[in-house]
Amino acid sequence: MQRIKTDDTVLVTTGKERGKQGQVHAVLPKQRRIVIQGLNMVKRHQRQQDERTPAGIVEKEAPIHVSNVKLVCRSCEKPTRVRFRIRKDNVKVRVCGSCNEDID
Ligand SMILES: [Zn+2]
Repeated sequence: MQRIKTDDTVLVTTGKERGKQGQVHAVLPKQRRIVIQGLNMVKRHQRQQDERTPAGIVEKEAPIHVSNVKLVCRSCEKPTRVRFRIRKDNVKVRVCGSCNEDID
């Protein structure tokens, strides 16, 4: 069960993007990293791949480790620790550590 999922809003807590919020664009579960839309941009030197994509410098989001972000709760809008609980219908859901509201 992942604490952070695609389309979540997260707050970056360390590194050069500290204090910024963004939407999770992709989750890389094996690496425990996430890609946040428009954050942690890195410049990549790209070779020409075909006629339509010229060589040059492209900016791309670099994945951030999940330990460097906090989930922003949709209910209380605070960056929070994620907890889990089992609902009555036996589905495991994420719960906000601040306001105790279900996140999923
Ligand atoms: Zn909350």
